[in-house]
Amino acid sequence: MTEQTTPAPIRVRIAPSPTGDPHVGTAYIGLLNLIYARQRGGQFILRIEDTDRARFVARSEQMIFDSLRWLGLTWDEGPDVGGPYGPYRQSERTEIYRQHVQLLLDNGTAYRSFETAEELEAMRRSQLAAKLPPRYNGAHRELSEAQIQQFLDEGRPYVVRLKVPAEGETSFRDELRGEIKFSHNNVDDQVLMKSDGFPTYHLANVVDDHLMRITDVIRAEEWISSTPKHVLLYQAFGWELPRFWHMPLLRNLDKSKISKRKNPVSLIYYRQAGFLPGAVLNFLGLMCGGMPAGGKVNEEKNPEVEIFDLPKMLEQFVFERISLGGPVFDLVKLKWLNGEYLRKLSPEAFFEQLRTVLFSDEYLRAIAPLVQTRIETLGQFGDLADFFFRDEVVPAAEVFLPRKRTLEETLGFTAEILTALEACDWTTDALDAALRGVGSGKEWSVKENFMLVRAILTGRTTSPPLLESLVVFGKARSLDRVRRFLDAQKKLAAQKK
Ligand code: GLU
Repeated sequence: MTEQTTPAPIRVRIAPSPTGDPHVGTAYIGLLNLIYARQRGGQFILRIEDTDRARFVARSEQMIFDSLRWLGLTWDEGPDVGGPYGPYRQSERTEIYRQHVQLLLDNGTAYRSFETAEELEAMRRSQLAAKLPPRYNGAHRELSEAQIQQFLDEGRPYVVRLKVPAEGETSFRDELRGEIKFSHNNVDDQVLMKSDGFPTYHLANVVDDHLMRITDVIRAEEWISSTPKHVLLYQAFGWELPRFWHMPLLRNLDKSKISKRKNPVSLIYYRQAGFLPGAVLNFLGLMCGGMPAGGKVNEEKNPEVEIFDLPKMLEQFVFERISLGGPVFDLVKLKWLNGEYLRKLSPEAFFEQLRTVLFSDEYLRAIAPLVQTRIETLGQFGDLADFFFRDEVVPAAEVFLPRKRTLEETLGFTAEILTALEACDWTTDALDAALRGVGSGKEWSVKENFMLVRAILTGRTTSPPLLESLVVFGKARSLDRVRRFLDAQKKLAAQKK
């Protein structure tokens, strides 16, 4: 009898980095991974890639868990549910990466590079001056043992780099695109471990995918250019490659890569603005053409084939059908779909949604103290607090435009405020500092600044305390309000021209 080798059980993963609000792209890729695993009796794993300490946001991980669970994208193994291949949080695996880097140093596929930040910067500048693409020049690829030892004895900090072969190319198969080749001329000697001992994304990602027995790496197409480095790493370790599937990126209406400036991208936004999880999941399932409905999301609306739930996706989604043309994340279409879902609810279920999403105890409890000090009858509540419950607030020019300011100036200033708010931790103190920071050094008073934000948030010149209101309304929706204000004003200005 010949021995039969059974294929390894399917294991897929998503690997979000906790760097801010959970992104719609994470849910989209999560959905595709979940479908792939469930259709094949496999496992779906959630791994948190938190090695970039500079961009780490403490609350982000919990928000990722909550948002994915809200959508019904549940994982079989992960930091919070455990599993046989943990830990599933990269910051708890640094010792594993250190050991693996040592393996590569020992077998000569990686090397220590001792240049200082200044030396690297000088290298970059001289390459740019010579009109060459900036990359590591390989100076420390072949240091002698004695030289390395001397640097180590001197206590010089170093990074570990991958020794990319000088000649030739690396190729790999993308399950949707076929063979992809990268000439080594275009692959830098990637840093695998930083001088602080933390791994880079590339190293940690490959080590974990291997140790967690991932069979299929299903991720967004923006990672294609990283894949040759990953393939070289698998080879350096002597490991078998997983299959790679690079999914078409979500796009804005203008076909650019989806961005927060053109679309809300935070899952928190969709939840707070009253989108139903089923509708969002359905919409994401429409994105890449895997369902029989095809991938032309922003064309006609066809409830017959475009409305489906997760069980239907598990039944009908075909990976080979995925089309590579960038799927457009069209908010108008998503709203239509959400409306269809809302209308399908029983009156009682609809009421329940209002009660638990828009008028939740938690939300009302946070708003109440903001109006209590200025209210005379309960009946005035709506007059004072309406903006907390509106989707759209349109301040008139006499409300938002400070006297003695031009529209152009004001909008330019609003854009600066938006940038400051995007980077801001959402507490009253941080907001206060951020808003004052934008005003400082300009002939624009803090008072004008606060009035402008107040006008955009509430549509009025007077309101409950601004900073507290922003905190209660939440970051995702507040930013959306500022962006929509800017968009609307730009459109108005264009019409006038
Ligand atoms: N940490 C990466 C991200 O933030 C993971 C990319 C991958 O799936 O390899 O998306």
